Formats: sequence, structure tokens, C-alpha cells
Amino acid sequence: MLQSLEELVDALSTLPTIGKKSAWRLALYLLERPEEESVHLANTIEKARKKITRCSVCFNYSEHNICDICSSIARDNTLICIVEKPSDLFSIEKSGRYRGMYHVLGGVLSPLNGITAEKLHITQLEKRIRESKPCEIIIALGGSSDSETTALYLGRLLKNQGIRISRLARGLPAGTELEYVDHITLTQALNERTDI
Ligand SMILES: [Zn+2]
Repeated sequence: MLQSLEELVDALSTLPTIGKKSAWRLALYLLERPEEESVHLANTIEKARKKITRCSVCFNYSEHNICDICSSIARDNTLICIVEKPSDLFSIEKSGRYRGMYHVLGGVLSPLNGITAEKLHITQLEKRIRESKPCEIIIALGGSSDSETTALYLGRLLKNQGIRISRLARGLPAGTELEYVDHITLTQALNERTDI
């Protein structure tokens, strides 16, 4: 087999949901298309990787030191919604109903996999809360047991600071990642959030 083709298949099969068979199909598709298309794709990936960094406040993806949400005067900065990862933030943004700020944890606690509080953006969250004194923190994590543990941990950590702490209403399917929840269910879970 051609070595470079094999390498391309291997590289493509590292992508999520792309098995060896799909990787083959994609590799052959790319070879059949005009060369400029592959060059454009490679350049676009490279450009995005170079330009996109993390917001220094909320850790969302951003092309600037501070992201558009954190720097927007139209957003309610008394409200901070804690999410696991940027894709969850995008899901809530797509629902179009939430006008507060975010804080991306960068994962959820999972001691068995070595994910401890120090590995998440929790210290930064505490500092941010001390400095910006929000009125409410909404814990918007998914339905897995690790998410559950993380929500309880955060609830305990942040209580007694005179801030309302709430979490998404039950009713989200158990074990579901937030990013796969439909907009209506997500909006409902946000609107019917409960205090902890
Ligand atoms: Zn930000």
C-alpha cells in the first residue's frame, strides 16, 4: 500500500466517529477531488488552530485574549453559567435564551481518570467570583455520574458566599452530554433551574 495514503487514513481515523472504513472513504474522496480543495482544507485547519485560543476569563474558545461574550456590554455579568466544555456553551448559546456569562471548567471531576479539581479551571472560577461578585451561579453540567459529583463539589465549594447557586432542572436525560440535548429541553432546564 502507498505509505502516504496509509498515513492519511491513520490521521483521519483519529477523528471522533471516524472509523477505519470511513477514514478510507474520506482519504480516497480527497484524492479524487482537485488538489486545491485539500490544500484549502489543510490551510483552514492550520489557520483556525493558530488564531483560536482560550478566553483568559471564561476559557471559552476565542480569537482574542477576552472573548466576545466576556467583553460584551449587552450580557448580564451578574450571572455565571458553569459548563464542562465549549460545545456545551455553544448549545446554550444556540438556544438563544441565556444572556449571562459563562465559565468553562475544561472537564468534570473524575478521580479514577486522574481528573482532580486542580486540573479544572476551578481556582480561576473562585478568583473570578471573588472579584466580580455575581448574583447567581448556574451549574449546567451533563447527566453523567462524574458531572453529578462535580456539581455537588462546586455547590459545596461556592456556598455561604451570599450568591444564589442553582443547577439545571432535572429532566435532562440521565447520562446525557449537554451538547446533545435539544434546545427546547435545554431552555426549559435553564428556566426551571433549582437552587442548591
Ligand atoms: Zn470569555
